[in-house]
Amino acid sequence: MSHKTKKLNTQIASSGRDKKWTSGIVNTPVYRASTVVFDTMKDMRHAIKNRANKVMFYGRRGTPTHFSFQEAVSELEGGAGTALYPSGAAAISGSLLSFLKSGDHLLMVDSVYEPTRDLCDKLLAGYGIETSYYDPMIGHGIRELIKPNTKVLFLESPGSLTMEVQDVPTLCEIAHQHGLITILDNTWASPINCRPFDLGIDISIQAATKYICGHSDVMLGTATANEQHWPQLRENSYLMGQCASADDVYLAARGLRTLGVRMKQHEKNALEIAQWLSERPEIDHIRHPAFESCPGHEFFKRDFSAANGLFSFALKRGDIESVTAFVEGMQHFKMGFSWGGYESLILGIFDVNRIRSINKWDETKPLIRLHIGLEDTEDLITDLQAAFDRYNFIINKS
Ligand SMILES: *Cc1c(COP(=O)(O)O)cnc(C)c1O
Repeated sequence: MSHKTKKLNTQIASSGRDKKWTSGIVNTPVYRASTVVFDTMKDMRHAIKNRANKVMFYGRRGTPTHFSFQEAVSELEGGAGTALYPSGAAAISGSLLSFLKSGDHLLMVDSVYEPTRDLCDKLLAGYGIETSYYDPMIGHGIRELIKPNTKVLFLESPGSLTMEVQDVPTLCEIAHQHGLITILDNTWASPINCRPFDLGIDISIQAATKYICGHSDVMLGTATANEQHWPQLRENSYLMGQCASADDVYLAARGLRTLGVRMKQHEKNALEIAQWLSERPEIDHIRHPAFESCPGHEFFKRDFSAANGLFSFALKRGDIESVTAFVEGMQHFKMGFSWGGYESLILGIFDVNRIRSINKWDETKPLIRLHIGLEDTEDLITDLQAAFDRYNFIINKS
């Protein structure tokens, strides 16, 4: 049965499990390898000739553990091939460096993940690659920012922390009219809640560290390309020495098999909590793509099939002391950055504008980001209720 006729959860359960990788075992085993040995010159020459095409040749090119997972991610994302990296950040740098060279111009969304911004400002700038940041809500206005040497349009939707949802099809259409390559950080949607290649994306990136692995114990990145861009992404990433450990890939493939059910529960729990928060008097607005108060909500409704557990909200007021009182002393929400695991997380963010050059945040309205895990929402709400009590105690003192 072709993957086009399979429903999503069937695809999640079956993708990449070809018998040539699994040897009939349910999960493709961990094949650790550096050296691959050959019996004859003929075998070796065959491997050299087909080394880019899922034939075992050298550890860095991958083993059945990698090939199986790469096929699964390609199928779910809807692309032609998937390169693996030791982290999501490496998938981003590996993708950008595969297509940019000295003298090129890059259009980067202003609401991008902080390490991606740092890569542009600290590393790419030194290589003679110029970055311009654009408003995530720019839409047709992107046309005015394209220069003769613009090579890549980079998107992240929804944006990190502030969650703006971009008009991906419009941006991609304009980018392609000018011969640009479109790269999307698709981590929030994971490979199942958005179809990036149907929206005009050429390369879709996942921090597999997040929902694919799903258990907060692996660092891994993927970049999936369409037919046209796959050979260049594959070869250039290989030239940069990018590869991932078979053990980590095994854990990612294991996580992937439950992505559908985990995501459904994360979404349900998060919507329930966001709804509860939206009725609190202390809240200015909710930054959850499924809420009208989130910029680009209309694009979320059009382009995504579901949400997940990650969203932010803005308080009407607050300072370091009151926000600290909010986020410290939680029972179930732990303070930490890498979301997408089964557990709930909380972050109090004061300096959004440090990582925004176009869309300045109103810093009088502190932003809190939550990752809603798989715990019972009653317990999470009790935890948040106590957080508001601590916060209000400080606010009412001042
Ligand atoms: C976490 C994250 C990354 C980086 O992934 P790592 O595996 O931690 O390097 C990239 N993009 C987004 C949107 C992320 O949330």
